[in-house]
Order: sequence, then C-alpha cells, then structure tokens
Amino acid sequence: MSEQRIKDIEDEYLAPVYAKLPLVIVRGQGALIWDVNGKEYIDCQGAYGVAVLGHCHPKVVEAIRRQAGILISCHGSIYNDVRANLLSKLKEITLPGLDTFYLCSTGAETVEIAIKLARKKTGKPGVIAFNNSFHGKTFGALSATWNKKYREPFMPLVPEFSFARYGSIEEVEKLVGEKTAAIIVEPVQGEGGVNVPPSGETPKSFLQELRELCDRRGLILIFDEVQSGFGRTGKMWASEHWNVIPDIMCSAKGIGGGFPMGITFARREVMSCFGVGDHTSTFGGNPLACAATLAAIETLQEENLVEKAARDGEYFKQKLEGLRGKFRIVREVRGIGLMLGVEMRFEVKDIIFKGLDHGVLFHYAGRNVLRFLPPITIARDQIDKVIAVLDLLLQQEEKVRLKTGAA
Ligand code: PMP
Repeated sequence: MSEQRIKDIEDEYLAPVYAKLPLVIVRGQGALIWDVNGKEYIDCQGAYGVAVLGHCHPKVVEAIRRQAGILISCHGSIYNDVRANLLSKLKEITLPGLDTFYLCSTGAETVEIAIKLARKKTGKPGVIAFNNSFHGKTFGALSATWNKKYREPFMPLVPEFSFARYGSIEEVEKLVGEKTAAIIVEPVQGEGGVNVPPSGETPKSFLQELRELCDRRGLILIFDEVQSGFGRTGKMWASEHWNVIPDIMCSAKGIGGGFPMGITFARREVMSCFGVGDHTSTFGGNPLACAATLAAIETLQEENLVEKAARDGEYFKQKLEGLRGKFRIVREVRGIGLMLGVEMRFEVKDIIFKGLDHGVLFHYAGRNVLRFLPPITIARDQIDKVIAVLDLLLQQEEKVRLKTGAA
C-alpha cells in the first residue's frame, strides 16, 4: 500500500485523537525504525517509552512466537504455567515488601487498580496528585492527571482529587484531610516535561518527605513508574534513586518488551483488601503477554541494561549539556538515565519535523521540551548522530531567531 493511501485510511477511519507525525513506520530493529519508503530513523521516541529493549528484541520475538503456538488465551479464573513463571520472576525485580501483583494491559489500568486499592484499603475516597502529573486517560487515571486540556471536556471526573505543587510537602500537608486515602506521584514526571523531584523542603528528598507524611497520616503512597520504571532511569525503579518504597507501584510501557502489559505492584497487606470480583480484566495475565514480559525481564537482566541506561544516560546528558552551553535558545537539560528532557526557549514542533529529514525521530513533552526516551540498547554512535543532528537544527533555529530578534 502506498504511503499516501495508508495515511488516508488512518485519517478517515481512526478516531481523531492523535496529533499525527507525517511518518509511516513499517519496521523496527533495536534503536532503528524504517518508514514505508525504506528510510531509516534513530528512534528517540521509543514508541512513547515502550521500546526500552529496542524494537523487536530477538529474545522477546522468540518468546512470543513460541508461546503463540502453545497457548494465547487463558482467563485469570484458570491457573497457567507461564503466568506462574512470570510472577516468580517479578519477585526478583520488585522492591522490598511489594510482593503481590495485579496483571493487566495498560498504564492507565494499573492506575485505576491503584486508586481502587487505596479506596478499599482506607475506606476513604480522596487522592492527592501533583501539578504537571500524567497518569492516563480513563476516568480514575484522568482524575489524577493535571492537564486541563485533557480533563475539562469530560467533567465531572471522579470526586475528591486535588493537586499540589510537585516538590512542595507543605502544599501536600495542607491538602490532607479526613477523606484522604492516598498520594499518587511519578518519581520522575514524564509527560509534564521530564521533571526530577526537587530536593525536599527539609534536608530529606521530596519522595522521602511524602513517605513520612503517609506513614504519619495513615495514607497509601502510590508511585506511578509507568514511564520511569523498568530500568529507564538507570535503576530498575526510579524511586530507588531516593531509596523510598511506596505501598503501591504502577508499571507498564516497557515491561512487556513491546507487548501490552501493565502490572500494579502492592504490599500484600494492601492487595489483600481486594476480594473476588473487585477488579477483573479479560486479557489480564494472558499467557502471551506473560511470555513476552518474562523474556523482557530476562533480557534486561542478562544484558545488564539497567547499568547501561545509567552509563549511556550520563553520556547523553553531558552531550545535551554541551548544546546548552553552546546555544542561548536551550534553557535547561533535565532527567536521569535515558529519560531526558531539554527545555528550549521556543516551541520544539519544528525540530521534530526537521529531525525526520535528517533520520532522527525526536520526541516532545509539552510545547517547549524535547524529550528523549530511546531504547536502552541505543549505541554510542547513534547517540552521537542524534546530538549532531540536534546541533545542526539548533544552529539553524538560533540563526533565524537572531535575525528576527526573537532569541
Ligand atoms: N502513567 C504515566 C506516568 C504515563 O507516562 C502514562 C502514559 N504516557 C500512563 C500512566 C498511561 O499509560 P497508558 O497510555 O498505557 O494507559
């Protein structure tokens, strides 16, 4: 099918909810993707952070192939060997005490489960979330998502959600009341612009302050690691950078190796408040998704990719810092590991379009922030090429801005 025909069909029939790039991707391998005309791109979007292991990792491909020929579907009401294997594996990568798991298929679903658990455990409805947060677009998750553009068309949302400034324990304390059940936070905010928690108001870190507040007030602490988890930041879980353990943790995106998988991790004492029928999902824990996830976790471990994310993330970040030193139009470089953001003094849309001409798929988080969520398997020379292209595009951008007096 021709490029134009593909675009026309999607534009005509698909619900019009995505801001589309003028790009038709048909194949991927590692950190590279190819369009319908055979043109190659380095993928810094990583399928919105999903392709942690790179596209079509051979081990994941093989696991999916093998399992597809054995058993694809098995409802949660029946036991299954692959599911049991995955659960045993999850024990190796979870945080201490988070030793029970709910298997579903998407990030938003992991958040729904977290909210329902917190409500049922405490018998209270209130949830405190943060400015610039993103937790998904189903009603519960949307209620914890900050951006008005996503919320307002669908009011009223779930009641008793409130928002504090990310980093301000004082604001959180003010919001805690009789009805508060939980605090939900991204250890590193993704969609909101790649924001690392500022140091706390006390000598402790912000996440530590939240942990202490939850302990003091009997609240459930939920970490949404859908984007920051599974090795991306150079630790298995981003919260490990601050040594804080939540009561519930949400993981999705990369953990399935590209296959849809969401996992809500919880302390047994919290998970056990769920009874039969409290939350079920037809596809949750199906053998195909479990086989892919098992292979993804094994790959992350065997190839030491968490350490690689830390190493190459540092390399990438230093190169980006170099660009900040060189160009006035670059405001700030943020992030940890291979979850990086560069805030510009201009809208980054053009950079993304022009990047395509040079064989790089850039990504954004809001209007002014370029976001980098490449596969951890990205090679150093691929990082160098991304930097070289960005350097060139920033030179062009700065020239235009100086000419128009906009810089
Ligand atoms: N939480 C976070 C932190 C996310 O970044 C996202 C997706 N960008 C979600 C939840 C929602 O995940 P999904 O799109 O799979 O529902």
